[in-house]
Amino acid sequence: MLPPTGEVFVGDTFRPAADATVSVFDHGLLYGDGIFEGIRAYSGLVFKLDRHVDRLFDSARAIRLDMPYSRSEVAALVLEACRRNAIVDGYVRLVVTRGPGDLTLDPRSCARGVMTIIARPAAALARHRDARKPAIVVTSSFRRPAADALCPSIKSLNYLNNVLARIEANDRGADEALLLDSSGYVAEGTADNIFIVTDRGLATPPTISTLKGITRETMFEIASEIGLAREERLLTLYDVWTAREVFLCGTFAEIVPVGTVDGRAIGNGAPGPTTMRVMAAYERIVRSMGTPIDQAMAGSTTVGYRV
Ligand code: PMP
Repeated sequence: MLPPTGEVFVGDTFRPAADATVSVFDHGLLYGDGIFEGIRAYSGLVFKLDRHVDRLFDSARAIRLDMPYSRSEVAALVLEACRRNAIVDGYVRLVVTRGPGDLTLDPRSCARGVMTIIARPAAALARHRDARKPAIVVTSSFRRPAADALCPSIKSLNYLNNVLARIEANDRGADEALLLDSSGYVAEGTADNIFIVTDRGLATPPTISTLKGITRETMFEIASEIGLAREERLLTLYDVWTAREVFLCGTFAEIVPVGTVDGRAIGNGAPGPTTMRVMAAYERIVRSMGTPIDQAMAGSTTVGYRV
């Protein structure tokens, strides 16, 4: 683990990272009662900040957590966290817990939600694998909880299932695990959505079994821009094993070409041409669109882009 540096927002103020702490009575710690977002900045622009703030508020509404700040305050604090940590290219983790309360899971004892914002430069992001090498993926024995168990649209602090799938992948020498839904259809990776490339274009599972990924949305925009058809449909493992190309995508992961799934080479095992086009388009978009961190540029809210 890297030593904590910079400043972290916690509760109501920015503190040196080493002093940024939450209570042991926080229900986020005691019960996983909270929500989070992962956001990226590229070239001084925070990518899709408003979408991330909107999703955070949707998660809060779904778990009936009263947000301690308004949308515009949250967005402003994310930008301030970037400025205080001299972020040009970086990653922001936004967490809101139910706050400190009694040793009962009843949230009525929690007076106020606690928001934490950690901003780290891209250079400090842990790299577990060479991003240029196609990923080795294995299907996990853990299932993505169904929408009537813990709805995958809620970006909650309950990631234990995904952590267990990740441990399973580690044990099997893989880079990532693929989780099926409760019916056995392909859902997503532990922290990323999955796309396959077919003769018709891009296909990805519907969000009934996955997070409504913001990178996934960007993939749809890229598909329209570069003239690829896109479909949301149930995918079986067979569809994945026999796809021409497969890639994973997420804010942290960005776009990861998949080389093998369950020991079956995807295509010839190297990143395919469509994946490479999508990766190049993504790189262009994230570096040319977003909310400026620098206050001098802050008059214009969002900078537009062309693929
Ligand atoms: N699925 C899961 C389970 C995730 O945790 C993430 C990461 N937030 C994603 C998909 C990708 O979502 P996004 O593109 O919004 O980062």
